[in-house]
Amino acid sequence: MTGRETSQMQGLEAETAVVIDDSPNRPSIRDQLITRLQELELLTPKNFEGVSAPAAVVELQARNHGYEDLVQRAQLILADVAGRRGDIAEQGRVAKAVTLWAEQHDDDVLLARGHRLQAIFYRRLGDSAQALAHAVTGLQHAEHLPERLRCSQLITLALLLDLNGQYQEAERRFGEALLIAEKNDDPDQALTVINNMAFTAYENEDFDTANDLARQMRTIAADHGIRLDGLYLDTLARISIMQEHYADAEATLQPVLDDPTGPLLSEGDSLPECLLTLVEIYRATGRAELAGQTLDWAGEVCDQRGLAGIAARVHRARAEWHAGAGRFQQAYEEYRLYHARSEALHSAEREARAYAMQAVFEAEEARRTSERFEALAYQDALTGLYNRRYADERLAAAVAAARRSGEPLSVAVVDADHFKRINDQLTHAAGDAVLRELGALLRGFVTGSEIAARLGGEEFLLLLPGVGATAAQHRCETLAAMVRANDWSGLAGTLPVTVSIGVATHTDGPVTPDLLLGRADHSLYAAKHAGRDRVSAG
Ligand code: GH3
Ligand code: MG
Ligand code: MG
Repeated sequence: MTGRETSQMQGLEAETAVVIDDSPNRPSIRDQLITRLQELELLTPKNFEGVSAPAAVVELQARNHGYEDLVQRAQLILADVAGRRGDIAEQGRVAKAVTLWAEQHDDDVLLARGHRLQAIFYRRLGDSAQALAHAVTGLQHAEHLPERLRCSQLITLALLLDLNGQYQEAERRFGEALLIAEKNDDPDQALTVINNMAFTAYENEDFDTANDLARQMRTIAADHGIRLDGLYLDTLARISIMQEHYADAEATLQPVLDDPTGPLLSEGDSLPECLLTLVEIYRATGRAELAGQTLDWAGEVCDQRGLAGIAARVHRARAEWHAGAGRFQQAYEEYRLYHARSEALHSAEREARAYAMQAVFEAEEARRTSERFEALAYQDALTGLYNRRYADERLAAAVAAARRSGEPLSVAVVDADHFKRINDQLTHAAGDAVLRELGALLRGFVTGSEIAARLGGEEFLLLLPGVGATAAQHRCETLAAMVRANDWSGLAGTLPVTVSIGVATHTDGPVTPDLLLGRADHSLYAAKHAGRDRVSAG
């Protein structure tokens, strides 16, 4: 076990109401919401139940003001809380969805936070390699985050490096995180970092380092009047036990015994963790009866809180306790319980893992499917060009943009000449093939933000934003020449294939999509009337 992200915050309460300041010198509502989100993000590891309601309020306010990125950011907080409550499927699903949104919108803050939450998700699932990959990506996007948030990204990465056996790399990141925390005079974050470093040193049986870090933790807590919470005290006690300083260890855990339901033990599993450490102390100092009572207590707490993982460890500790007193039959029974419990635990974990992965991949699949449908809904099946529906939407948008910017906008209606002849003299299939080839020519003709679409039948539309009247005329003449010069003999035999094109350009004055399209149609009619295979602009 590694990674202890908890710390107790004195006097830092998350208020449920988010009061928006509307005094004359107020920061913008967006800035206020960002500040609030940052506070909640930093508070989450310390008091996740407390941030849930305010995060939901911020989400609602961001939604009401149309700040979709802040909505997503609030959702990440809520997903983090869901994961801490045990709903890892929800955590993974939201983390994935928000990261995808962030990729599409190139949003670094969300990319950093989204990948970090995915890292935590995969760590909870037991996939530490995948978790590490997300932590690395998260940090890559964290460059512009406020320092305290970047610090928490570094801590997450360091924990995962440690979990993947990369101790030196982990140490380097912990070191960086500590520097930031110290520079910002942030004792809480410094404690979080040092506690993790100390626990790692303890696990690696590095006495000197562990001792030194334990001293630093006590100093920081004393200097800033911070009461260390249960998991921190547990780290300190274990380091004392490592050196057989049992009295020190016991004294360290005394606050836990003094107030077992108090705020020092806010995290679900910190009380039974501390109790198991006390059992070790009692057994090492010959107080077997007290050890037995403490084991009973730890077992009860585990049952009450549904802590299956620690419950299994309680059975193992009780087996050792019985064995130590020569009660081998009872020891054997407890070992059996331990095995049964840990088996059940592993299959429950496997199930949770499978369920969570499924939730994540379903979300991914739903997105892919909807993107596919969206693409289909805008595509002309025969030519693969955009269809009329898309052309209409884009024409409306282009007209609005041209009116705002004052840039010119040209549209061209392209119609095949005497197309009926091809169908009649050859086959409908030959007609289709010619339309497909025309579609390919048009697709190759447009560049940049220009759009080619099939309006229906043998009629196409070109949308040419930023192109003035003269340029549009020239472009369309080039297109007509391209069609004329194309080798159609394989598709249309001796029948010629040409197009007539009607152009209309908006430069200033009132305009609507219909008006512009109407003018292009009118031009097309003129081109046909003048003999086809040509361009007309009015
Ligand atoms: P004009 O030069 O005046 O445009 O003459 P036209 O024959 O091209 O125009 P008209 O509107 O009289 O005929 C268009 C023909 O296009 C009629 C229709 O059968 C054919 N057509 C429309 N859609 C398709 C299609 O999807 N495939 C094929 N093969 N033919 C189509
Ligand atoms: Mg035609
Ligand atoms: Mg036509």
